[in-house]
This record gives sequence, C-alpha cells and structure tokens, in this order.
Amino acid sequence: RAKQAGRNGFAMFMGESDTVTAAPLKLQTELIAAIEQSQLSLHYQPQVDAHANLVGVEALIRWRHPERGMVPPMEFIPFAEETGLIVRIGEWTLERACLQQRQWQSQGLGHLSVAVNISALQFLRPGFVDSIERILRRTRANPERIELELTEGALVQPDEQTMKQLHQIRKMGLSLALDDFGTGYSSLSYLKRLPINKIKIDRSFVKDLPDDREDAAIASATISIAQNLGLAVVAEGVETELQRQFLHERGCAFMQGYLFSKPMPPEQLFAGTDDKPWQVHRSAP
Ligand code: C2E
Ligand code: MG
Ligand code: MG
Ligand code: MG
Repeated sequence: RAKQAGRNGFAMFMGESDTVTAAPLKLQTELIAAIEQSQLSLHYQPQVDAHANLVGVEALIRWRHPERGMVPPMEFIPFAEETGLIVRIGEWTLERACLQQRQWQSQGLGHLSVAVNISALQFLRPGFVDSIERILRRTRANPERIELELTEGALVQPDEQTMKQLHQIRKMGLSLALDDFGTGYSSLSYLKRLPINKIKIDRSFVKDLPDDREDAAIASATISIAQNLGLAVVAEGVETELQRQFLHERGCAFMQGYLFSKPMPPEQLFAGTDDKPWQVHRSAP
C-alpha cells in the first residue's frame, strides 16, 4: 500500500518535463533540505471528550515547501518510508511533540496527551525504543502524556520481538493507539493480545454516518469491541453534529474532527479559546 501511495506521491511532484528517474532523487534532496532548513512543522488537532473538554491532541506533520507551498503528508510520508528518510523525520516529529508536551506542562496544560503517528517502518527498525528513551531524556517530556499511534501495518501478526517492543514502550509510560482501525488486515485475535490502550475508528467509517447502514454497523461494533476489551475508543473525522450524536449514543467517549477543529499550529490552539467549541482546563503548572 505504501509503495503504491509513494508512486502517486512522485506523480504529484513531477512536472510534465521531469523524467521518471529524476523525480525521486529530486524529492529526496528536497526532503533532506526540508529537515535541515526547518520547513517541517507540526500542527495539532484537538481530541475532545463527551463534554467537549479538550483531552489531547494529535500531532500531524506539515511541510511548507519554498515553491509548492503546503505539501500534505500523504504526498511525502509514503516516499519518506520508501527511502528510509522516515526514520529521521519520525525522530524529529517525536522530539518536537515531546518538547511541545513539556512546554504545555509548564503552562498548566500537563493533562493534555499528545499523540504522535509512527510509521510501520520506523516502528519495526531496531533502535526505535532507544530513540524514544533518548528523546524523553532530552526533552524531559512526561511519557504518561505521550501516545504513539500505530497502524495495523506495523502490527499484523506481531512476532515476539514486536510484542516485546510494545511492552517496553508501555513500561516506559507511553500509551499506544491503533490508528485507522478496520482499514488494514485487522484480526480480532491479535487485537486481544496487543498491549494497546486505544482504538481509533477510521474516518472512512465515520464519513457517511448515520445514514450508511454498513458503516453504522461497523462503527457500533468497533465501539462495543473496544469497550469489552477495556480499550478507549476515539472516532476520527467527525464533521457533523449528527455523526457526533450517533457516536456519542453508542458510547464513543472521544472524538476528533473538523466539527471541533482542524489541525492548527500550537500557538493558535489556545488563542481566543472563548469562541472555540471545546473547553480547556488549566491547572497550576
Ligand atoms: P491519520 O493519522 O489518520 O490522521 C488523520 C488525518 O485526517 C489528518 O490528515 C487530519 O488532518 C485528517 N482529518 C482530521 N479530522 C478530519 C475531518 O473531520 N475531516 C477530514 N476530511 N479530514 C480530517 P493529514 O494531516 O493530512 O494526515 C494524513 C495522514 O498522514 C495521517 O493520517 C497519518 O497517517 C500521516 N501522518 C501525518 N503526520 C504524520 C507523522 O508525523 N508521521 C507519520 N509517520 N505519518 C504522519
Ligand atoms: Mg493518526
Ligand atoms: Mg487515523
Ligand atoms: Mg485515517
């Protein structure tokens, strides 16, 4: 799947005159420049509970390209995975998110959790756990407020090494969320064995709620599976009040989507909170 998306990624980047072989190299050079010249940044999207209290955010990477403007992650993450650049980008992202958590902590927002997307390749690479340890030490972030979002790709038929790594991450205090649930090769038998805390219902199942009967069935079933396995559940891509209501009535405790907020730069999250559709609670730092 990543490969295919990667090719699409090249296609998007290639001008009509570019040759097929030149484009990836150009993109690779540009992506390295992006890392080195601070063209990457993180936006954060609120996650709210049933009372619209802000409980956390998901960090989402953004690339402001000097000529092309904002390049969406789906146009370069798959490519970064193919070239291995995802390891550097992933470490940068995690460090950035940890620094942000640390800063919020000092501003009385230490209860907010910060979710970080981890690509399968990054997760499966030896040294991943060490890199988390290093970043936590350097940033002094609270591991209890850092959540790693993994997709099913990283976790299909987890071998012993993968299971060990997941347990190590949990022992360090971080939590684990299964992203895009239901879109990959999910198997309920591995779901019960994984030491995860949370399931994220993919946006594709939320988009046509409440009218689409199949999606309604899938969303409802996912919520009750999560509840029965003792996992938290968050719905992605909630855009309408009717979707929110449907999910809420079925016991989905957490939600994320444009109904509440688009992802935004951190300084905008808490600016003029009064007119935002969620509440923030600050405590003494
Ligand atoms: P994801 O982790 O499933 O993130 C959710 C995506 O849905 C985000 O797109 C978000 O902006 C979008 N979204 C949220 N609410 C709504 C909504 O109500 N309506 C619609 N139409 N969209 C909504 P984004 O930021 O373009 O990211 C796309 C994907 O790129 C992410 O999917 C994730 O797989 C990947 N990604 C983003 N940042 C990172 C990163 O730092 N590292 C890695 N490895 N992957 C990343
Ligand atoms: Mg995610
Ligand atoms: Mg997702
Ligand atoms: Mg998704």
